[in-house]
Amino acid sequence: MKAVKKMSISVPFLDLKEINLRFSEEFAEAQKRVLESGWVILGQEVEAFEREFADFLGSKHCVGVANGLDALVLSLRAWIEMGRISRGDEVLVPANTYIASILAVYEAGLKPILVEPDENSFLMHAKNLHEYVSPRTKVILPVHLYGRVCQMDQIMAFAKAHNLLVLEDCAQSHGARFQGISSGCFGDAAGFSFYPGKNLGALGDGGAITSQDDEFIRVVKALRNYGSERKYHNLYKGLNSRLDELQAAFLRIKLKHLQEDNEHRIEVAKYYLENIKNSEIVLPAPGGAGEHVWHLFVIRSKNRDKLAQRLLERGIQTMVHYPIPPHRQMGYKELHGLSLPLSERLHEEVLSLPMGPVIEKRWLYFASQL
Ligand SMILES: *Cc1c(COP(=O)(O)O)cnc(C)c1O
Repeated sequence: MKAVKKMSISVPFLDLKEINLRFSEEFAEAQKRVLESGWVILGQEVEAFEREFADFLGSKHCVGVANGLDALVLSLRAWIEMGRISRGDEVLVPANTYIASILAVYEAGLKPILVEPDENSFLMHAKNLHEYVSPRTKVILPVHLYGRVCQMDQIMAFAKAHNLLVLEDCAQSHGARFQGISSGCFGDAAGFSFYPGKNLGALGDGGAITSQDDEFIRVVKALRNYGSERKYHNLYKGLNSRLDELQAAFLRIKLKHLQEDNEHRIEVAKYYLENIKNSEIVLPAPGGAGEHVWHLFVIRSKNRDKLAQRLLERGIQTMVHYPIPPHRQMGYKELHGLSLPLSERLHEEVLSLPMGPVIEKRWLYFASQL
């Protein structure tokens, strides 16, 4: 192995410690409250968080689960239990998403059909879906990748025309809105992740499902807890995917600051967009007001690796989301035959710059010198 010079980081990619230390006193109070309640899983903190997050989004229902992957799997499984889809049915999913969106489809016994994104926005777009839809297609799984909401009016119209269910993957888009409606409120259901690095992150794992459909919510609530509504009575072969009281209590605190945290991210993105002048860099398209909450600020460059190295030498940490396309992953051999040239190229060119709610403007002067 080549010796690597130890480099000191002046601009961290995402400083989770600073992000969470802002709330240390409130977290301590929340912990005490949970301890004194004597109840640690699926209790009143979870119920309160579910209500508060649903209200924040403008959703009728929210159900807390163990993580974002499970939120997607449980939603698909609920539709199978309800007889709305069957094992083996096809699900349209973006080819350039994080692996969880695709794994969830397999976990539910369904077949993912990988769809090339729109090159400009990186997102699934209705105009591309005609090529992929078949009589076996039953679900569209749009991902609001990097924090920007897909053009949901067109995706919903396409779904309606083809009689498809829509499951939104909102793991990166907490609080992003399209035409005044929050991501997570367009589809038949949506999955959120509260993995610590997300825009709304817990101090461990967590996730949630949102929907406007009462019956679906009843099934999902049973599925997350061994398929039971009454203890030791199992209506379905469910999962164990429950949200802890502690995580829910922490999330309630962080939810109060989500809007201002997102606004900070929007300010950082604005700075980058105004100050990066290098013609070899393709800047991300911001979309309309409020559509992008900048979970990630993803630029493109033909010399991505060199650019990342140059930045690291100056102490600026970057990451690649994601280095290997899902259809080239070792564990997904059934997808290896696919040719998805645009997604393959994006995976070679994308680079994520430092982004988050505690980044200070004075750290970002490097943008004008890229
Ligand atoms: C993080 C993420 C998930 C999965 O969330 P976990 O809580 O890590 O299971 C799903 N989809 C996307 C797009 C993600 O970024």
